[in-house]
Amino acid sequence: MKIALMARNANLYSHQRLIEAAEDRGHEIDVIDTMRVYIHIASHRPEMYYRGEKVEGYDAVIPRIGASVTFFGTAVLRQFEMMGVYPLNESVAISRSRDKLRSHQLLARRGIGLPVTVFAHSTSRADDIVEMLGGAPVVIKLLEGTQGIGVVLGETPGAAKSMIQAFGGLKANILVQEFIKESGGSDIRCLVVGEKVVASMMRKGAEGDFRSNLHRGGSAASVKITPEERSTAVRAAKIMGLNVCGVDMLRSNHGPVVMEVNSSPGLEGVEKATGKDVAGAIIAFLEKNAKPNKTRTRGRG
Ligand code: ADP
Ligand code: MG
Repeated sequence: MKIALMARNANLYSHQRLIEAAEDRGHEIDVIDTMRVYIHIASHRPEMYYRGEKVEGYDAVIPRIGASVTFFGTAVLRQFEMMGVYPLNESVAISRSRDKLRSHQLLARRGIGLPVTVFAHSTSRADDIVEMLGGAPVVIKLLEGTQGIGVVLGETPGAAKSMIQAFGGLKANILVQEFIKESGGSDIRCLVVGEKVVASMMRKGAEGDFRSNLHRGGSAASVKITPEERSTAVRAAKIMGLNVCGVDMLRSNHGPVVMEVNSSPGLEGVEKATGKDVAGAIIAFLEKNAKPNKTRTRGRG
């Protein structure tokens, strides 16, 4: 196969591992810096140029689109789809997963366990928001936040109310969520590749932090997940329409609850914690599935 890896920085661990896995399995793989692509739009003739050359001859494309460049990144991916190149994850699924409100609605609609959540634009009745969640403590999240930045714990009704109002004053989009205390500052990330959980890890927050993000000083270890956690992860991926993703969940006393579904999961933490070859599983998935014009949406929607 000839594979295109859409990535801005080829040197990141995840990208290096994907390149290594593809080459080890006998494929050709080129890194295309997403933000340097020129999308050429003309009736019935989707084309793309990179470094002065026409982009052509690819069997598959692996999108690694950073959250800050979703708009242009998904447009480049859509162009690949219109050219008939098989995408590891489709552009519509990636856009869907980047919208936290939309993702929560889609997952809830299909009965996936989620922490009880309120999305609000107006924060004038912050008391009501906290009450709708059964009172403090509550977790308040900035919708644009990643890597744990913008996630805070309102421990008392008063603290929660003033935090909600402070974010409101900054005109930030937020969600407010029940605090799953029993997860004890740990969460579980399942790496799903083509309807299978290929690796899972438990992340634990640094001492005194309820956030388990590795970027916030959390640590990771391999974990054995329950059948319910496994099926929740696989179903969540399917509902989002993602072939490959990281499904993050908390162990609540009413079963697994999904916090987010990440369409470009980092491979370093999970491969090092579990010793699993996730990059190899991703390339194997492409070997099995990449066919011309096989995209479900072909850039529609
Ligand atoms: P980000 O997108 O910034 O990673 P998350 O929603 O994943 O934001 O939250 C960051 C971390 O905070 C999670 O990994 C988890 O450890 C903790 N956390 C988030 N929501 C809750 C919650 N409702 N109850 C308990 N802990 C939570
Ligand atoms: Mg997270």
